[in-house]
Amino acid sequence: MSPETFRSYAHQAVDWTADYLQSIEHYPVKAQVKPGDTTAQLPTSPPVQGESMDAIFNDFKKTIIPGMTHWQHPAFFAYFPANASPPSLLAEILCNALAAQCMSWQTSPAATELETHMLDWLRQLIGLPAEFQGVIQDTASTATLCALLAARETAADFSVNHQGLTNHRPMTAYCSQEAHSSVDKAIAIAGIGTMYLRKIPVDHQFAMNVTALAEAIEHDIAMGYVPTCVIATLGTTGVGGVDALNAIGKICQHYHIWLHVDAAWAGSALILPEYRWMIDGIAAVDSLVFNPHKWLLTQFDCSAFYVRDASRLTQTFTVLPEYLKTREDSEVINYRDWGIALGRRFRALKLWFVLRSYGQEGLQAHLRAHIQLAQMLADAIDAAEDFALLAPPAFGLVCFRYQPQQCNDTSELNALNALLLEKLNQSGKLYLTHTKIGDIYGLRMAIGGVMTKAEHVDNAWILIQNMART
Ligand SMILES: *Cc1c(COP(=O)(O)O)cnc(C)c1O
Repeated sequence: MSPETFRSYAHQAVDWTADYLQSIEHYPVKAQVKPGDTTAQLPTSPPVQGESMDAIFNDFKKTIIPGMTHWQHPAFFAYFPANASPPSLLAEILCNALAAQCMSWQTSPAATELETHMLDWLRQLIGLPAEFQGVIQDTASTATLCALLAARETAADFSVNHQGLTNHRPMTAYCSQEAHSSVDKAIAIAGIGTMYLRKIPVDHQFAMNVTALAEAIEHDIAMGYVPTCVIATLGTTGVGGVDALNAIGKICQHYHIWLHVDAAWAGSALILPEYRWMIDGIAAVDSLVFNPHKWLLTQFDCSAFYVRDASRLTQTFTVLPEYLKTREDSEVINYRDWGIALGRRFRALKLWFVLRSYGQEGLQAHLRAHIQLAQMLADAIDAAEDFALLAPPAFGLVCFRYQPQQCNDTSELNALNALLLEKLNQSGKLYLTHTKIGDIYGLRMAIGGVMTKAEHVDNAWILIQNMART
């Protein structure tokens, strides 16, 4: 492709992008396709001769777009937001242009130094003490795995990497019953074994029962096991529960257990002084992850992983073959040694664009607006006789169900709400997902899109009521 042809198609791509963002509300939020619909439109074998960019671009619009769910749609309320602000999108365009592989300082010094600097800016914004150092990971799942591997090596005096787990007493780990599935996955991959992961019950506010945690640890010690890591959650996926770091931290310090904090979604709220109470007890925390790619206007992927002692990471992950040695190794950070992958994208650029273009106050205003919308929706649900909140609103998350007076059978209500969810999502006008609290099935509405305004939440609430009642 000649530079001039590239320029012309690049302009088309950008025009398409601007049109898309402007008209996004005309798309059905959730893709209205069935399994196999997209595949059926693709040739079974690759083209022998190259095709024109016009043909490819047309097929992108015709074949791919109908099979996409529109995460940036202002009525996207499913899972958690993955909010991509325009400044972050612009930075990603430039990052794609550079197409740099930033595994070592030398392979792109500015990328490494900007990453160090942006994670320090973010650290200040969320109020972590100065000893915490950060690194960008692709996802919170990866960050939690890295934390567990570092915790495992710390507990075993950095011997498992070499010896494997065979000569060790079983290690145990702890999280609440409401913790994210990425914890189970990390425990499995780290070789600790999911049978040694203790799921501690939660209290009525969906926070880990700290007495039960202490008892579980005592029990494991009596069995001859080695308590290795506690994973506390700030903002559980189901209902937004917040574990008590202070009390958990005291236990971890007493027993010398690594404390990792999974704040993937709700950690962004730490930029608000009114949510700083969540990290009371930070003195006992060894690592923390939160995702700017969920709620801090920075598009996927960008997960901020902080550790109190970065040498625990480098001791866990450094492998230095001859071909990776560089002259500056002793003076610089090589982020390849802070995680699993060798190759690294230049993700700090979008943070720089986002943090500069919004500023602290702009970011705070965004989050507060979402939190206020969630509160307003919760008030409306509370006031409706045939709907009920399943938990108090948490951050931008509201969990509720339809509960008409004439019906009080749990399984019937569960089926009614599952059907309601199906109908709502099929309408294309909004996208919600569900949660289960005990055996109660409910709908979950996560507010946090870049373009989500009061009208979108109001319209969603009207639609939910209408569909439920007809
Ligand atoms: C979203 C979420 C995760 C997983 O995040 P990824 O970045 O997709 O791996 C983990 N924990 C919690 C609490 C979450 O909300």
